[in-house]
Amino acid sequence: MEPFESEGAPLPRNMIENSMFEEESDVMDLAKESPSYPIDADDVVYEPRSSRLLVRGLGENDQDEEEEDYESSARLLGMSFMNRSSNQRTFSSPYARQQPPTSCSVPSAKTAVLGVLVLVVVASVVMVIYFLPACTFSKEGCKSSNSSTVYPIASDGEIFPWSELRLPTSVQPLHYEISLLPNLTTMTFQGTVTITLVVLNETKVIVLHSSDMKILGCTFQDKVVKILEYKPWQQIAINFPENLNKGQRYVLTINYSANLSNSYDGFYNSSYVDTTGTKRVLAATQFEPLAARKAFPCFDEPAFKATFLIKIKREQEYISLSNMPKAKTTQLPNGLFEDEFEKSVNMSTYLVAFIVANFSSLSTNVSNTLVSVYAVPDKKDQVQYALETAVSLLQFYNNFFGISYPLRKLDLVGIPDFLAGAMENWGLITFRETTLLVANHSSEIDKQIVTSVIAHELAHQWFGNLVTMRWWNDLWLNEGFATYMQYISIETVFPELDIDNEFLKVRFRALEKDALNSTHPVSAVVNTPEQVEEMFDSVSYEKGASILLMLNSTLTEEAFREGVKEYLKQFRGGNTDSKDLWSSLSQVMKQPVDVGDMMHTWTKQKGFPLVTVTRAGPQVTLVQERFLLNPANVTDSSNLWHIPLTYVNDTCSKSISCKQVFHFKDKTATLKVPPSVKWLKFNSRNDGFYVVDYGDEGWDVLIEALTEDMTVLPREDRASLINNLFALSRLGKVSFKKITKLLAYLRNEMETAPLMEALRQLNHIYRLLDKRPDLPFASRMKTYIYYLFGDLMDSQSWEEETSVSKQELRSALLLTACTLNRPNCTQQADALFQQWIASNQTTRIPGDLLLVVLSVAAQKTETWNTISNMYMFSLFDSEKRKLLQALSSTQDVRKVLWILQAGLDGHDIQTPELPLVIHIVCRHFAGHLYAWNFVKENWEKLVQKFPLGSFALQSIIASTTNQFSTKTQLEEVQWFFGSLKERGSQMRIVQEAVETIELNIRWIESNLATLTEL
Ligand SMILES: [Zn+2]
Repeated sequence: MEPFESEGAPLPRNMIENSMFEEESDVMDLAKESPSYPIDADDVVYEPRSSRLLVRGLGENDQDEEEEDYESSARLLGMSFMNRSSNQRTFSSPYARQQPPTSCSVPSAKTAVLGVLVLVVVASVVMVIYFLPACTFSKEGCKSSNSSTVYPIASDGEIFPWSELRLPTSVQPLHYEISLLPNLTTMTFQGTVTITLVVLNETKVIVLHSSDMKILGCTFQDKVVKILEYKPWQQIAINFPENLNKGQRYVLTINYSANLSNSYDGFYNSSYVDTTGTKRVLAATQFEPLAARKAFPCFDEPAFKATFLIKIKREQEYISLSNMPKAKTTQLPNGLFEDEFEKSVNMSTYLVAFIVANFSSLSTNVSNTLVSVYAVPDKKDQVQYALETAVSLLQFYNNFFGISYPLRKLDLVGIPDFLAGAMENWGLITFRETTLLVANHSSEIDKQIVTSVIAHELAHQWFGNLVTMRWWNDLWLNEGFATYMQYISIETVFPELDIDNEFLKVRFRALEKDALNSTHPVSAVVNTPEQVEEMFDSVSYEKGASILLMLNSTLTEEAFREGVKEYLKQFRGGNTDSKDLWSSLSQVMKQPVDVGDMMHTWTKQKGFPLVTVTRAGPQVTLVQERFLLNPANVTDSSNLWHIPLTYVNDTCSKSISCKQVFHFKDKTATLKVPPSVKWLKFNSRNDGFYVVDYGDEGWDVLIEALTEDMTVLPREDRASLINNLFALSRLGKVSFKKITKLLAYLRNEMETAPLMEALRQLNHIYRLLDKRPDLPFASRMKTYIYYLFGDLMDSQSWEEETSVSKQELRSALLLTACTLNRPNCTQQADALFQQWIASNQTTRIPGDLLLVVLSVAAQKTETWNTISNMYMFSLFDSEKRKLLQALSSTQDVRKVLWILQAGLDGHDIQTPELPLVIHIVCRHFAGHLYAWNFVKENWEKLVQKFPLGSFALQSIIASTTNQFSTKTQLEEVQWFFGSLKERGSQMRIVQEAVETIELNIRWIESNLATLTEL
């Protein structure tokens, strides 16, 4: 799946629907407090502070410190989820691992002991009374005499025969036949699912997932059976009096009905208004990660692969699409049509998809696959680019992976009102319209976005669909790989898109996220639904891709590719975890490096290393430690990484062949270099996932070298030095003075990568300073930015530009210049806008400059209204987004308030755009404080639209808080989220926000003196 980022604002990906968490009124609160393992009654303790039973479910396994560290944050997340006991969303899930309470506010030790004893007795009695029926009247109720298993209570009051969040593995689904009748008028659907199962181990129970549906009837081997439901876990079960036979196949049929979801997951309804002003409706699916269960009862875990035969009844005016080609259409007596699709390949439930809509398409055949791009009829002339791109990339992947795409068709569908960036459903990839459609006036950068998303989703057809992670803890195998492959494929197939700058930016961003203590390991412990949701983040995608690049450059391109092919061949159709990939790569390795040993240090521990280099003549001493921006709460500093440390020196630095590799595994190491070597640059081209500190003198030598002749290092290395120095400044290791010393060379720099990195970093600091009461600092930073970039800003052309790299640089420079009100920029932008309006939009503004031009125009009331009208009627999605961003950049407070409210209402501005609106609003002083107030005042509404922990909510919190840099603001943020308690205080993003503000405060305090001298 593609979470989609634009303007640095991660767009929402999380699609768990609010109604998924409906309160289960007749089920006792047990699940809200339950561990992920069968509850051991001995572990029940009473926690007086909150008058709740806390149950420790760690079982027999003690955790090591590292795991416990992770677990503690995971547990916090789990609690935030499970304690949602009010309103419509009270998923009382997680059976998360619970620690016993560690502190209690008590008047004295004696009283405490007595109190606890009394309470334990009371609690035990309550527990015994409550659990007695489970163990007394159910044969399944007690697993063993010394470890009694406690089962939850099903909706009808009976005992639910399964006590874990994960499904039992005694039964394996083989084939699903799903028949659906969606009604796009009543927004409901009816379904029948027939599942052929095989029993792997004798059992008396079948447990599967089902959510938000009404079960109308169930037969097993054609005999009516009773279904038990435990809604908090979205599980249903059937009890049998006798064991089902091992090895035997059975058939389970379930009839059900449900509403088409109003949110963005499951089988949901979507709508748009066409050019005639008519509202059109459609129904589409988004299942990853946990919503297939909302469309049909199923074994909704990635390892339960099966085949699917799907039948959809529809009215004549619609078409239906699913993963496989259509096998036949039958006209039914009631006037409806039934489309039946071919039996699918073996696949996971989260990849199943179907759509009922009135879309138009364009198709072409390539390598025995019919590739089609679908869009709403009004936009059918915008699909050509996607079609050609998909064809080229499909050919590339067929060849690269050595396994041809296995289906006879591949559909790419643009869905209006879609929350994720895109979703890789096998054979039926769904997209936001912005990430699929390209109009004549789209810029090369817009094409780069569309190409990237298509490349990502196509890579998933192998990584994810053909070979699937066993469980969500290894989501990075899907997402890290698809992200990595999107850059590799585009570099080869579309070199003109200059994608390498983008990949470098992604690596820098991944380092920043991973430098916080609130980060998590690439391959993390995942039990609960919200833990699954939170895996879709920068670590799985961006760090995952970054460490694959590091591995690729360590193994060599050829060996890496051979290893990947071997992996796909060996595990084709199956499920894997990280070590399967490492073992495939080890098999083709010619070097004596244990890939698994090396990579585990990158996937199993969170964060990344800081390598400190000191030089004394020929001797170079290396020390590694965790790069941690906020070490206050971390006690364990024993992390070690196996770093494939690369370096070049002044005698050979430009060519790839200059690179030397040293496998740095210990805390310290030494290297010998010839005394004549003047300087060393580590982490060649920033292919490795670490930061290097050269020490005061080491930096000076490098700065001197760049000042003399910057071409001694490739552009990626120059960008990498800039990035690392800013990172070290945040860490408090170097002063801002050192940064200004390095950046002085930039006045001669012409390459996009280093210039963009410096501009990005300085813009961030400017925005921080701009939001503070001490104004002179912001204006000093503005002067400094002009000093470095002013000439370059003024010399930018406003004509069409073909190079993507130059477009990227120009749009970034001019957006900064115009935002800072540089007259040369605003005057040019104004003139272009006037021409454009005067020509009734028939003249063309270069696509990469459109946002700059619109943002300047949006600062005046009259033209803001003009842009607002254009936004309402624009049919071109890339343009529409730029119009929205420009509208959001207004500094008129009334307009800020309107646009925030409109994004929340979802009428004039689609709600999935709200995180982007907030992100842009927050860039400016006026909007910044209003956005924070808006978030506080509308918190309840926001968490109804975007679930706690969701990507969208994470983005909103980050945007509104990451520019705070005063103690008052820190306290305000802590107070607000603290006051939410279970309504948001425990999200990982809240820890991240607090950490970020603390770091901002620290940075400003330690660099105030330098800022005064700027
Ligand atoms: Zn993906």
